[in-house]
Amino acid sequence: MDWSLRACGRKGHATYAPDEPELRERLHADTPAGEAWRCLRCGDFALGPPAGSGPADEAPIVLRGRALRDATILRLLAAERLIRAIVLLALGYGVLRFRGSQHNLRETFQRALPAAKPLERALHINLTDSAFVARIQKVLESRPHTLTLLATALFAYAALQLLEGVGLWLLKRWGEYVAAIGTSVFLPLEIHELTKKVTVLRLGALVVNVAAIAYLVWTKRLFGVRGGRVAFEKERESESLLEVEASAGQISP
Ligand SMILES: [Zn+2]
Repeated sequence: MDWSLRACGRKGHATYAPDEPELRERLHADTPAGEAWRCLRCGDFALGPPAGSGPADEAPIVLRGRALRDATILRLLAAERLIRAIVLLALGYGVLRFRGSQHNLRETFQRALPAAKPLERALHINLTDSAFVARIQKVLESRPHTLTLLATALFAYAALQLLEGVGLWLLKRWGEYVAAIGTSVFLPLEIHELTKKVTVLRLGALVVNVAAIAYLVWTKRLFGVRGGRVAFEKERESESLLEVEASAGQISP
């Protein structure tokens, strides 16, 4: 799949006329149909005036090829985190609401239980002593303090997810670090959960998270891996078409 062409199809070609005459010439072409400029993303010549112009240093950084594919994957990860943040916020809000009306709910439940007795007898089941009812009662009787702690934990987790999501979406290096560390922190907990019971959901979540961390650390060269930030910047520059053209212009006499 050609990511560059797909992006050009969606956003239009990223043509740019640099002020430097030599560089300008390399990116420009005269055709019978009029002037054409080389797209900094897909490399094709596009008919019409350039989308931008100015010094080469001020040209927009156009993500292309592998960098563009990486950006798409990061934004998918970001979207997943933002959705998780919304769910966590809703849960936290729910817990707070529940804390406010806990007393009423408990009373309703206590009143409803005896009312269910005739039904129990008719169906030959014992609701009142079931583990499910016991669990509901336990939640209803949990202390407000515990619920406040729970809501705080949910909001804190939501904030972390929000931070990761925004950082990844904006393709910021700090966002990649926050995501890599933030996801790693919860790995021991996920593994601990798996030792208690293996479910497809838990196993899937662990695999996805480990893959995401490995992907971030490897491709973004985090924590000094594969030369770290310096190597990462160099790699991105070497893939920039403007840089390629500029260095080609310097080499040729
Ligand atoms: Zn293009």
